[in-house]
Amino acid sequence: MIPVTRSSMPSFEEYCEAIKPMWESRWLSNRGGIHRAFEEQLKKHMGVPHVALFANGHVAMEVALQASGIKGEAITTPFTHISTSHAIIRSGLKPVFCDINEEDLTIDENKIEALITNQTSAIVATHVYGYLCHVEAIQKIADRHGLTVIYDAAHAFAETINGVGVGNYGDASMFSTHATKVFHTIEGGIVAFRDAGRFHAIDNITNFGFTGNDTIGYIGTNARMNEFEAAMGICNLRHIEGEIAKRKLAADCYSERLSDVKGIRLIKPQPGVTYNYAYYPVIFDGYKRNREEVLSLLAEHDVIARRYFYPSVDSAECYGDAYPAEKTPISHYFANRVLTLPLYAGLSPQDADRICDIILS
Ligand SMILES: *Cc1c(COP(=O)(O)O)cnc(C)c1O
Repeated sequence: MIPVTRSSMPSFEEYCEAIKPMWESRWLSNRGGIHRAFEEQLKKHMGVPHVALFANGHVAMEVALQASGIKGEAITTPFTHISTSHAIIRSGLKPVFCDINEEDLTIDENKIEALITNQTSAIVATHVYGYLCHVEAIQKIADRHGLTVIYDAAHAFAETINGVGVGNYGDASMFSTHATKVFHTIEGGIVAFRDAGRFHAIDNITNFGFTGNDTIGYIGTNARMNEFEAAMGICNLRHIEGEIAKRKLAADCYSERLSDVKGIRLIKPQPGVTYNYAYYPVIFDGYKRNREEVLSLLAEHDVIARRYFYPSVDSAECYGDAYPAEKTPISHYFANRVLTLPLYAGLSPQDADRICDIILS
């Protein structure tokens, strides 16, 4: 069986070494020494001035939204994990879905301004599959209208644009470090931000809103990363470059076989971006088999691909009929045609080749 993804792991001995200090200190959570060391290493690796760590990426986004103090409406993408819009709603904001562009499936900045009202306070956009939003254009719009920009960068760990760490764009960026992501801490999340003043409450909100031993300054939550997770992060960070290089080998193999096939579309690399090979999305549009047929054909051969993302999140059952599909046709179009192929550090180019044989058979 070939799964869609498989977690990278340090050696058992390396992880044991990293968690050993806890048997002395008995400090298992709440910003312990491992947590703090991991934060420092992340700041260096990501090239960002500030990071905060969380129990998972979803709650990291909720805390970032609360800490930023925004209210009202947030313009967001419908082509993302359901987490993005759920976090917006659960933070007391209203999502306003802006359609995506056809080239890299990120939010279409040309359609943002038409959606701005006097209630709009933020743009919350996703670097989907690790393809970066058009960050300069989005920042210009935000500056013109006084909007906060928060990125769901769950897919974009270790990426840079012209040498600048992706976490430097917007007011804050959330990275998920869930076990299925390129870089993981078992469960976890990171928020990178530049303005420490603006996000001064972020660690307090993460810890129930405590601002002192007996003072509770915020209606916070419990979103803490624990020491076992931080230790996994420290170990995995040592190997991240090598793991991404291994993913690239498999991804290159897919690209070689699947580009220039009639009815199959791949997303082009973005200039200046060092890609992390988080996902391998393939768009079946006019191919001899449709997306569902390719999915079942692969399953018959014990290869698990995923309809990631499907459905377009604006049509989630729990949102009722609040968001008519006609408003975001491009997102729906791609949600019906995209498949992400297996991609992980241990996927050999031979396996990728075999998967292409099945798709092209
Ligand atoms: C995985 C993911 C999340 C949620 O992250 P968790 O760490 O699983 O909570 C949010 N947004 C996107 C785009 C994701 O892929």
